[in-house]
Amino acid sequence: MEYRVKWQMSFFADSPKEAAEKALKVQRNPNSIATYFTVESHQAIYNVDLLHDEIVKKVEKSDCKHEWLEEDDMTLACAKCGSLKLF
Ligand SMILES: [Zn+2]
Repeated sequence: MEYRVKWQMSFFADSPKEAAEKALKVQRNPNSIATYFTVESHQAIYNVDLLHDEIVKKVEKSDCKHEWLEEDDMTLACAKCGSLKLF
């Protein structure tokens, strides 16, 4: 099974590079509490909290009442499950 793992965090920085460097520092810190991931398979999306050993299924893609948002000029992405469609 292939999974897509997303890790997201906000940083204040003076440049995109500085923001990325701050993110890298947090990721490499073994004591970091930023252990919350969104994990997506072809069927479903899960919220995984490694710190609290908790896995919550967020949405089964087939059950999703898609909320389509424009991803780019040719693609729509569902805000809830991450499904993509061309238009
Ligand atoms: Zn959806």
